[in-house]
Amino acid sequence: MQRVYIGLGSNLADPAQQLREAIKSLAQLPQTSLSDVSSFYVSDSLLPGQPRYTNAVAAIDTSLQPLALLDALQAVEIDQGRERHERWGPRTLDLDILLFGDCVIDEPRLKVPHYHMQARAFVLYPLAELAPGLVLADGRTLDQLLKGCPFEGLERLPG
Ligand code: ATP
Ligand code: MG
Ligand code: MG
Repeated sequence: MQRVYIGLGSNLADPAQQLREAIKSLAQLPQTSLSDVSSFYVSDSLLPGQPRYTNAVAAIDTSLQPLALLDALQAVEIDQGRERHERWGPRTLDLDILLFGDCVIDEPRLKVPHYHMQARAFVLYPLAELAPGLVLADGRTLDQLLKGCPFEGLERLPG
């Protein structure tokens, strides 16, 4: 079993509901148990002209192989109406593998740790709720990453 952190994001069609639906699907993945889910956070899109995003992080324990997990997550995205047009376009659901145990993966379809996580407050702050003392495989601590990434612009939703 590997502990895997998944970043969830949505900015279309009732984003918070999209995240709740996705969390139910994560709990039903084969060979997987859902361990924890962070609060939901709202922030402006990094690109202008898009609706605000709702994001969260989930922790799962899985014996799926990394690419099998990616396939399963992409099936959930498609199930929830994800359409890929322009890169970083608005979406009903984005499920990204942030960390897969201590694995470092560099394959055409899958890069882990997720290559932008250190720059994204909407990833780091929810992740810190679930794994405050986290140390990445390369020795960087989550605390160090948080120091380089201000909370500014994030709104944590109650409940
Ligand atoms: P970003 O990667 O900047 O968050 P995005 O999530 O909007 O952008 P997608 O359109 O969801 O990008 O995914 C594009 C491709 O990224 C996917 O088809 C997938 O193969 C690849 N990918 C590479 N690494 C990962 C990862 N760690 N988690 C999910 N997808 C990944
Ligand atoms: Mg993404
Ligand atoms: Mg993605």
